[in-house]
Amino acid sequence: MFFVKSRFLNIFYLSLFCTFSYALSQLNFISNLNYTNNLELLIGKGSNLPSSWIGTKEVNKDIPILILAGHADSQGLAGSGTSGESVDKFGLDPMDPEISDELFWNLKLQESIVKIGKKRGLNIRSYDPGIRNIDDANDPKTNWSVGKKFAQTGGYAIEIHFDSYGHYGVGAGLIPPFFEQPNTIDESIARKFGRFPISFRGGLGAPRRQIRILEIGKLEGSLEKNLRNLKTRQKTIKLISNELVKAFLHGIHSNALFNPTLDVVDTFLPAKYL
Ligand SMILES: [Zn+2]
Repeated sequence: MFFVKSRFLNIFYLSLFCTFSYALSQLNFISNLNYTNNLELLIGKGSNLPSSWIGTKEVNKDIPILILAGHADSQGLAGSGTSGESVDKFGLDPMDPEISDELFWNLKLQESIVKIGKKRGLNIRSYDPGIRNIDDANDPKTNWSVGKKFAQTGGYAIEIHFDSYGHYGVGAGLIPPFFEQPNTIDESIARKFGRFPISFRGGLGAPRRQIRILEIGKLEGSLEKNLRNLKTRQKTIKLISNELVKAFLHGIHSNALFNPTLDVVDTFLPAKYL
């Protein structure tokens, strides 16, 4: 009897301990915020895949820019974007049960980038198909169809994404267009966020339509925590948007920096980009 009782108590204490440590880990996950206004620390490591491109093609000063939110038209089973580390690994509730967490943040970033970009004088706009699941990628209302048309008429179309967490993702960086020479905006964004090879995953659907893809960072760790926490959310969205808008302005107005005929010092690129 005594044995049975003590065994029961052991199991009871063990389950109490497990519940307590689980609660503690969740609390630790939520409260362990390391806010930083350093973009590199926030978005994590950029892609370290070998890439050899340098964007030197000059652009018009008033080049039209289109910001698309990745997965805005593909919330079906496949291609809806990452749920992020919080939901997938730690079992937290999604930000919005109707859409993936990635799309939730892509839309927030899209809005903020356009707002800040307009204030800073960019010729910038957004497009949202509104319909969250369009089966045919070539339907005229999809991100890709609208972006393709925009790029064909001389605009700069870019789709915002967050990469998957852990080993499922690669990291931050820009995927340039597949059939077009990368320009000075591509260069400026890649210097800030990192760069992917042009042929990444055989040339994805968007780059094949001349739409750039920007992976802002993996949806995990401090980036995701700072986005989820209400105290740091706005600051985090604003910081990333500001840095991207600055990269646009720099790419548009500092063409000389990328001109290979200038002084060698001016055109120096870190070895990892070559
Ligand atoms: Zn994505």
